[in-house]
Amino acid sequence: MTDDLRSHIDEAMTLAAAQLGKGRVADYIPALAKVDPAKLGFALALPDGTVHASGDADEPFSIQSVSKVFTLALALRRVGSDLWTSVGREPSGSAFNSVVQLESEQGIPRNPLINAGAIATTDRLIDGRAGDAVAEEIVDFMRARAGDDRVEIDFDVAFSESETGARNRSLAHFMDAFGNLTHPVETVVGVYFRQCAIAMSCRQLARAGLFLAMEGRDPFTGEQIVEAHRARRINAIMMLCGHYDNSGEFAFRVGLPGKSGVGGGILCIAPGQGSIAVWSPALNEAGTSLAGAVALEHFAYAAGWSVFD
Ligand code: GLU
Repeated sequence: MTDDLRSHIDEAMTLAAAQLGKGRVADYIPALAKVDPAKLGFALALPDGTVHASGDADEPFSIQSVSKVFTLALALRRVGSDLWTSVGREPSGSAFNSVVQLESEQGIPRNPLINAGAIATTDRLIDGRAGDAVAEEIVDFMRARAGDDRVEIDFDVAFSESETGARNRSLAHFMDAFGNLTHPVETVVGVYFRQCAIAMSCRQLARAGLFLAMEGRDPFTGEQIVEAHRARRINAIMMLCGHYDNSGEFAFRVGLPGKSGVGGGILCIAPGQGSIAVWSPALNEAGTSLAGAVALEHFAYAAGWSVFD
């Protein structure tokens, strides 16, 4: 890494640290409400194998909706373009867990990165298998991408999500009523809650996202994880739909595809350059990490990394 990139990370972290104290930790999942809002981590994974970390970059956190990017990749591998019969590719312009559009759009969620769309994607990924086997496949995939066998599901978080999961169950039942679910609701949400409850550090997550920056190929293992055209399209969906109802704002400020989770993590892809993961648990009103987005905005600006070059 050049000294420049290191100093951009340092500057980004200083500016992000000034935001600590603002925003709110997600509390609708009780296990997430306990997290210290003052945490701040940043990791940049480069294709040459180096990972440059700063702050709380080695502390595992709940990746939540960031998992949706990886299950999308797995579902596309498993069922191919047929996935798009179950879920769309349009920004939703509404909250991540909204029921409203499902009613008017006959049970086909707008995109795979809102809750309903991720539940539909997980349903397709299950593809007739047992839920436990699929949850295991997802964790194994994250371990392989992170190059770290220590990646685990946090079962306290998974349990807490299930206990408070009435709205996600409602989304699943709604889709079922429209014939857009092929497995029992409990099987599907059981996998969904576990994928959201995977705990990873910024270092692991940045490393895991690198295949999306490298045309679908994991530069560490040499494996083609998804075809290049699929990696581009996953990035396109992240760009348009990755941050709930502030996806446009994120694209404007950061200019790179990304995905937020309500655990305070954001994965951000700089095609051809690298993969960045940030974590800070206090969220803005739409559910994106407040300090995390500031760190990404300043890093991308200083490094001159943008898909609009
Ligand atoms: N597991 C969370 C939920 O279903 C994910 C939300 C998020 O990170 O956007 O509500």
